[in-house]
Amino acid sequence: MMNLAPGATIGIIGGGQLGRMSAIAAARLGFFAHIFTPEAGGPASQVAAMTTEADYTDHDALTRFAASVDVITFEFENLPAASLDLLARLKPVHPSPEILRISQDRLLEKKFLNDIGIPTAPWAAVQTAADILVLPGILKTTRLGYDGKGQALVRTPAEAAAAFEALNPKPLVFEGFVDFACEISVMVARNEAGAVVSFDPVENRHKNHILDLTLAPAPLPLETLAEATRIARHIAESLNLIGLLGVEMFVTASGTLLVNEIAPRPHNSGHWTLDACPASQFEMHIRAVTGLPLPPAARHSDAVMKNLVGPDDMAKWQAILATPGLIPHHYGKAEAREGRKMAHFTRLFPRGSLPGAFGIEAALRLARG
Ligand code: AMP
Repeated sequence: MMNLAPGATIGIIGGGQLGRMSAIAAARLGFFAHIFTPEAGGPASQVAAMTTEADYTDHDALTRFAASVDVITFEFENLPAASLDLLARLKPVHPSPEILRISQDRLLEKKFLNDIGIPTAPWAAVQTAADILVLPGILKTTRLGYDGKGQALVRTPAEAAAAFEALNPKPLVFEGFVDFACEISVMVARNEAGAVVSFDPVENRHKNHILDLTLAPAPLPLETLAEATRIARHIAESLNLIGLLGVEMFVTASGTLLVNEIAPRPHNSGHWTLDACPASQFEMHIRAVTGLPLPPAARHSDAVMKNLVGPDDMAKWQAILATPGLIPHHYGKAEAREGRKMAHFTRLFPRGSLPGAFGIEAALRLARG
């Protein structure tokens, strides 16, 4: 069984902010991070011991990378299958290539979830526009969709036909429209010894299809929170996960939970754990893939996390730094393009006060500035 000692090197595929915060967590535990990314000088490389700058299909570079690390993990899940197989022949890869394959493909993902008894929105694989039977719904590409890209809301047969033409490659997946009350997520970690820990379920609010705010904990009845936790742990155990996994769910008006997506990596909706928990999602990720014990995922505080996206949000950076109580996390990206996640901040509240005495709306007003 793996149990890496300080001085070991963790290979991280992907060079964005999730890799940056994972590399910082690795350093705190005495590990070196080696980043594999096509992008020079990106968020993760800036804080890592080593970087291989190469394309995700460059097998020579992947082979040299594997030779230089003790374990391989991801902050980015869309590595080509041939690259994944190559790495897995050379070094331990956590989470496993099989988990990545499931999470890369919405059809495999939904089939897997339903097979282990987890409810999702009703869905069907779509080969022709005539396969779209019940409107309204959401038509999505099976692969490479994120932040609302690669999908379209369809309400009429004409919209369905247009969206079918526009989205590629086929097949697509068609999902029944879920009239959800809110969206939540749970971060769960599992190590090789089978220990499982999960952070409290949080509510996620989006703006322009991009995560805007996370409320920790989600202001929902305890039974709903317990069910969300049960679902996330069941998925992690059914996958034999070694690593960290985010589970996104819809909560319907009647309190039913439907899983939307799983992501076997740190997740934007887990950033609040950096400031509100003794061990963050990034530390849990590093601990899980290196065979270390997993401490409790308890939170010491309630929290609101606010994403800072694009040039408009970054225009407030100095004001955010000057506001007591806001905990800033900058990702080190040179250019604040529209829709690009640049930074986030967290505001902490005494544990138990966010849904209660303090009030969610007051907390959100503070976060919005
Ligand atoms: P996804 O790329 O699957 O995470 O979807 C992005 C966002 O689109 C979700 O966070 C929801 O707000 C919305 N969405 C996705 N699928 C559905 C659905 N079946 N019904 C209603 N809204 C959806």
